[in-house]
Amino acid sequence: MTQDSKTSSSREHVLVVDDTKRIRDFLIEYVLSPQGFHVTVASDGQEGLEKARAEKPDLIIVDNQMPRLTGLELLQQINKDGLNIPSIMMTAHGSEAIAVEAFRLGVRDYIVKPFNVENMASAIERALREKRLEKERDHLNKQLVDSNLQLQRRVQELNMLYGIGKTVSASLKLDDVIQRVVEGAIHLTGADECSLMLLDDNRTELYVRAAKNLDTKTQSLRIKVTNTFAGETLRVQKPLNFTPNQPKHAKFLQSQGLQALLYIPIVAHTKALGLLSLANRKNPNPFSEREQRILSPMVDFVGITLHNARLFSQMEYERHRLQALISQTNDPILLINEKGRLEMLNTAASIALNLPVSSSINQPITQLIEDESILKFFTQLEDENFVSNNEITVDDGRVFNANMTLVRGVGRSVFMRDISNMKEVDQLKTELVHIVSHDLRSPLTSILGYVELLRRVGDVNEQQEEFIKRIQINVQNITTLITDLLDLGRLESGMTLNLAPCDLTQLLHEISEEQHASVALKEQTFIFDVPPLPVLNADRNRLHQAFSNLISNAIKYSPEKAKVEVKGYAQEGQIIITITDTGIGIAPEDQAHIFDKFYRADRVQGSHQGTGLGLSIVKSVIEKHNGRIWVQSELGKGSRFFVVLPPTTDVAKQK
Ligand code: ADP
Repeated sequence: MTQDSKTSSSREHVLVVDDTKRIRDFLIEYVLSPQGFHVTVASDGQEGLEKARAEKPDLIIVDNQMPRLTGLELLQQINKDGLNIPSIMMTAHGSEAIAVEAFRLGVRDYIVKPFNVENMASAIERALREKRLEKERDHLNKQLVDSNLQLQRRVQELNMLYGIGKTVSASLKLDDVIQRVVEGAIHLTGADECSLMLLDDNRTELYVRAAKNLDTKTQSLRIKVTNTFAGETLRVQKPLNFTPNQPKHAKFLQSQGLQALLYIPIVAHTKALGLLSLANRKNPNPFSEREQRILSPMVDFVGITLHNARLFSQMEYERHRLQALISQTNDPILLINEKGRLEMLNTAASIALNLPVSSSINQPITQLIEDESILKFFTQLEDENFVSNNEITVDDGRVFNANMTLVRGVGRSVFMRDISNMKEVDQLKTELVHIVSHDLRSPLTSILGYVELLRRVGDVNEQQEEFIKRIQINVQNITTLITDLLDLGRLESGMTLNLAPCDLTQLLHEISEEQHASVALKEQTFIFDVPPLPVLNADRNRLHQAFSNLISNAIKYSPEKAKVEVKGYAQEGQIIITITDTGIGIAPEDQAHIFDKFYRADRVQGSHQGTGLGLSIVKSVIEKHNGRIWVQSELGKGSRFFVVLPPTTDVAKQK
């Protein structure tokens, strides 16, 4: 270690101490110079000692017999001084006692004069080997210490980056993250000042969002992005390290009173949001590539956080809006989470179900709802009998139509609509139906009766007979119209179906029997091809009405001797019924409208009796059962009506 100062010179230094010039010259010329040693000489012991002390050579080759100070004395002094310099002693033949003493003093080798080049060279080699190894070890040690230091620095940097990364992921608070990054940047680079600047909303100026060691004046500074280095950094989205040997940079640094400056842009999703600025005002060091590299991920953190913070505030805004919307909606809305606890309810729901918002949230729904039927609806199992729609009557007497939706990963949402008014209207309608059917139909029946009697009380001429028939037909039409109107009204007012197991095959057979007289009158061929079908959960009366309409239309709109066919089959869990005739058919332009109210094809207006309401009723009934109806028809050839009904389970989930 004492030789550290020598390591700068790669040549090894040998001090030759001998009072005989010939020996000194011999050593230099034949042994030391050829091997590239740096040589200094001393011509007696005293001079040798002084030079050894001053020059601290790598090796001393010393004679013993010398004036002023012998070789042994010189070595003794060196030892005393604590100088650990390897040495080779040259003595005359027969001085073995001196040799022993010399070895005691740490001499590496002992050589007897006269010696040859080879002997001396190998003695030097041996003496220096240890020193050389020592040097190598020192060198390796130094390298190790350097690498360790570097490693420690890297670890520190990584720790800091990790710490900042943790702050970013743990916090959505922009201020926390930004402040940590600014402090971290100063810590990692030793910069004099650091500021984090963000673009304003117009993206025309940068303002300081966080800073360290910045004076208040600079802190309130705003930098325009047009024609500035800062703006350029944002535009190219690459760091800008000001180099004083570039005249433009040097001028700028000087104008700012700075020695060094580094801008690193903050980018998120390819959009520049601002920059990190590091400056050295007193510190003369420029910022290195390495510092720039290490700062980049930190700046990326800021980009991520800024982006997240913006997304978060946007989401918060949307959430508040949605919350306001839900809470101010007049219809009750509530959300039950997957654990069966009430997660959210709006004011309307709180009033309707008599649940105070604050004390009900997060409580099990089973402990909140007392009404058994409501609770049963809310907590029903998600199986094939699941009912999404139900009528709920709450304590204050209001009736709601509650619709429940299962939302995967969230729970079940319930949306309730107040149908108390509709219920009342429905009640009124039922009463009206009763009145109409009784009070309006009775006079009509009596008109028909009296018209019938006309023929009995006396002869009627041909013209009178024609009038009587017309009266009968029209009164019949009015009666049908009244019935259809009432039915349609009932269906459209949201009348619920009376669901019960229904054997569709039997029902269709029954209807066919009822129509037998009409078929016979027109001598038509009636084919019934409906095998036993799966039992449906349906409103039998309504389906009776629908299929009667379809079958009677097929008969009505087909000429004599035509063919009418009722066919049924089950396919992929659905029941399909077709009613086919070889009748007059429906023109393509009429096909789109025949299910509309009061629509009748032009050609049938006069020739066939009807109100144009039948198919509207059929469509309503089928759709109430979650089914579908459509027609295929060719003018002059016939029509086929298709009815598809879903299996029992789906019908149960009526709309
Ligand atoms: P209505 O039979 O009382 O006129 P619908 O609503 O039952 O009323 O039928 C609407 C129209 O559709 C009918 O007027 C007729 O033009 C046409 N239509 C219905 N069924 C058939 C059919 N099987 N063949 C031809 N046309 C039909």
